[in-house]
Amino acid sequence: MTSPSGNSETPLKKSKVEEIKEASSGLYGTIPDEIGAEHVCFSETSIQVLKHHGTYQQDNRDLRSERRKAGLDKDYRMMVRTKTPGGLMTAEGYLACDDLASKYGQDDLRITSRQGFQFHGVLKGNLRALIKDLNTFAQMHTKGACGDVVRNVTCSNVVDIDPAYAKLGADLFALSTKISDHFLPQSRSYYDLWLDDEKVSIDADGNVSYKAKHAAKPEDEPIYKQAYLPRKFKIGVATDFDNSIDVYTNDLGVIACTKDGKITGYEILIGGGLGHSHSKQDTYARLGSAIANVAESEIIPVIEAVVGVQRDFGNREQRHQARMKYTIDGMGLEAFREKVQEYYGKPLPAATGIAPSAQPDYLGWHKEITPGLNYVGIWVENGRIRDFADGIKFRTGLRKIIETYKPSVRLTAHHNIVLSGIGDADVDAVKAIMAEYGLPTQDSISPLRRMEMACPALPLCGLALAEAEREMPRLLKQVEDLGHGDADVIIRMTGCPNNCARPASAEIGIIGRGPNKYNVYVGGNRTGTRLNTLVKDTITVEDLPATLGKLLGDWKAEREDGEAFGDWAHRVGYEELTARLA
Ligand code: SF4
Repeated sequence: MTSPSGNSETPLKKSKVEEIKEASSGLYGTIPDEIGAEHVCFSETSIQVLKHHGTYQQDNRDLRSERRKAGLDKDYRMMVRTKTPGGLMTAEGYLACDDLASKYGQDDLRITSRQGFQFHGVLKGNLRALIKDLNTFAQMHTKGACGDVVRNVTCSNVVDIDPAYAKLGADLFALSTKISDHFLPQSRSYYDLWLDDEKVSIDADGNVSYKAKHAAKPEDEPIYKQAYLPRKFKIGVATDFDNSIDVYTNDLGVIACTKDGKITGYEILIGGGLGHSHSKQDTYARLGSAIANVAESEIIPVIEAVVGVQRDFGNREQRHQARMKYTIDGMGLEAFREKVQEYYGKPLPAATGIAPSAQPDYLGWHKEITPGLNYVGIWVENGRIRDFADGIKFRTGLRKIIETYKPSVRLTAHHNIVLSGIGDADVDAVKAIMAEYGLPTQDSISPLRRMEMACPALPLCGLALAEAEREMPRLLKQVEDLGHGDADVIIRMTGCPNNCARPASAEIGIIGRGPNKYNVYVGGNRTGTRLNTLVKDTITVEDLPATLGKLLGDWKAEREDGEAFGDWAHRVGYEELTARLA
C-alpha cells in the first residue's frame, strides 16, 4: 500500500500527534483535566493540543543540569504567541501587551518573524489568565497561532499608509484578516477553556479550575475536519514591489500584481517552507511555486482548495514529511495543481510568473498617504522588546512614545516595529524620545545589522541545537571589528534548521548544528526569490567571524558594479566558495 504522498515504503500508521488531534474532540483533549492541576507542567498529550491554542511548553535549558542535580523538576515555562494578521495593532493593544509582559511574562516581548508577539517565561498557573487578559484588554487572540492549522497571516505592513500603495485600490490588511478569520478553527474549545468564566474560574489565590465538561460532540470543522492539517500552514500576502514578508517561504503565498500602481490580479504560490533537518536527507528548504493568477474574490476559494488537498493528501504518518512542500513534490506540481483545480471546481487561471522587485524594511521616517502624517520604522535587535542593562531601552522608549502619541503599531516580518499616524507637529518630540532611549533607525546601526535576524533559540526553545539571539550581537560586533560593518547584507541566524528567522532565504544564513557549532550558507538574493547553499559545514562559533570576514572581503574585492553579496556568491559558485573556506 502506498501513502497518499506516494511513498510506497511508508506504512500507513498515523503518527502519535495525529491520534492526539483526532481524539481531542475539537482541541479540548486532556487540557480540561490539567489546566487547574497543581503539577507544574502539562502532559505530552495536552502539549500537542495546546499548540493549537497558541502556546508551547518550554523549560529554561540553562537551568536544567543545576536543577537535575538538586533533584528539582525542570523550570517549566509556557510561551504564548499572538495572532495578529499583518502585525497590525492599536496603541492600546500594544500597551496592554506590554503590561501583561510584566504581569505574567519575563518583562519583555518578542516580535516574531511572522508579525506576532511572543510572551516567554509564563508559568503554567498564569496561562489562562494571560490568554484571557490578551483577549479582553489587548483585543488579541492566540487561536491557531501555533499547531497544525493556518498560522498568522503575514502582510506587507505599510499597505494602508505608504505612498507606494496609494493607487492600489484594495485593502491588503483587510484581505489578510479575512483569510486569517476564514481559516480559524471553529471548535468552541478556545472560548470554553480560556474565556468563559462560567466554565473556568480563577480564585483569589490564582488557582485555576475547570468547572464544566465540554460538549460530548464538538462542532464540525468544515475546513479542517477532525484531525486538522497534517502540519502547520503558513500564508503571506505581498505585492510585486514589496516582498518584506518573504512570500516564497510560505506554504501559500499571495502576490498582488500591479500595473501603474493598481492591482491587476493575485499570483498564488504554493509549497514554500524552509524548515528541514540536518540528519534527515529527505527534508529540504523549498520556495513557493506559482500555480495561478486570480481575482480578489477567488483568493479564499483557491486557498480553501489548496488547504483541502493538503488536508486529504498530506503525510500523516511521518511528521518530518508532513509539510505541503513534500505533498507537492511527492505528487508532482502539475498533479497537485490539477487536484486543487478539482477541489476548486473550475480551471485555475494561469500564473503570470511575476516576481517581487524589492524587499524593503521600512526603517526610518516616511511620509504617509494622508498629508501631515508620518510613520517611523524602528530597528529592534532580534525582535526583543526589552530594556537592556547596558544598551538600548527598547521597552521604556517604545512605551513612552506609544503612550504619549497613540500611533498605530505594526510588527514587521524582520522583527522590527513601525509606528504610524504621527503628526508633523509631533515628529521632533518622537525623535527626541527615540534619542533619549537609543531607539535606532537605519541611521544609528551599521548596514551589516540593518537586515539581520536571529531566532530566540536558547535558553527556552526545546529544539535549539545552538545559540542564536544571544550570539548574534557578539558575532556582528566581531565582523564589524574586522572592518565589515559597512556590508549591506541580509544575514540571519537560527539555533536549528527549523528556520524560524528564515536563514535559508538570506544572503548569508547561519544555522545551528550542535552546541557552539554552525553551518554557513550563502547566495540568497535581495528579493527573496533564491535559496542559499551550504559552503561551510560544522564550524565553531569562534571561527564564524573570520569565515564571514573572508567571504565579505572577497565580495568587496570582486563584486561588479552594485553587485549584492548574494548575487556575487551565486555568480562565483558554491564549490569555489567552499574550496576558498576549506
Ligand atoms: Fe527554536 Fe529552531 Fe525556531 Fe530557533 S529556528 S526558535 S532554535 S525551532
